[in-house]
Amino acid sequence: MFFFGWGYLLYVALPIMVLSFIASSWVKRTYQRYSQVRNSSGMTGVDVARRILSGAGLNDVTIQVIDGELSDNYDPRTRTLNLSKAVAMGSSVASEAVVAHEIGHAQQDRQGYFAMRWRSDLVPAANLGSQAGPLIVLAGLFLSIFTRSTFGFYVAIVGLALFAAVVVFQLITTPVELNASRRALRLLADSGVIFPEEQDGARRMLRAAAFTYWVALFGAMLTLLYYASLVFGNRRND
Ligand SMILES: [Zn+2]
Repeated sequence: MFFFGWGYLLYVALPIMVLSFIASSWVKRTYQRYSQVRNSSGMTGVDVARRILSGAGLNDVTIQVIDGELSDNYDPRTRTLNLSKAVAMGSSVASEAVVAHEIGHAQQDRQGYFAMRWRSDLVPAANLGSQAGPLIVLAGLFLSIFTRSTFGFYVAIVGLALFAAVVVFQLITTPVELNASRRALRLLADSGVIFPEEQDGARRMLRAAAFTYWVALFGAMLTLLYYASLVFGNRRND
């Protein structure tokens, strides 16, 4: 546990916790606020989705209603637009924004947007890195302290490299998400489902969502830096 003392809590865990909390409450607050604002067209999320999909020539995308709150996503493997019940049935500005963002991903998929492909390919590596990376770093640190050999150092480097996959994943995810949100605003305007006075609400929703991705990226980088400082700092003391 001594690797994760006050320094870790103060400079890594606490800032990440605070920022994640701010990000998720900002998203929830804006979502709740704009769920109350009815859109002028009176169309539900599913109506909006159908209109945008056909306007964008994405007729092969299937719409599916799923459980959960803000669990909305686009699945490129099955070309399915999964909409949470509240978003699918709601006739709000929030519904429009969420639907259009997910269709932004469907459009990326259709156009072979390279960053989106990379991101899908990186999911297994990022999952492995986030789970096994820190454990291998720790194992390496213990080895180098207790055996006083350089072998432990190299084990820790392997752990660092694995965790770096998480950072790479977030580095790709952030622009993919920002791009999907830019597409969302354009799709909403082009399909004529959104009125100019609603644009601002949709933009605010997407901005709040974007912040969560910046936080995730920052958190991953900060954690990697911390592990790196442990590994290289420990080596210096040898
Ligand atoms: Zn997204």
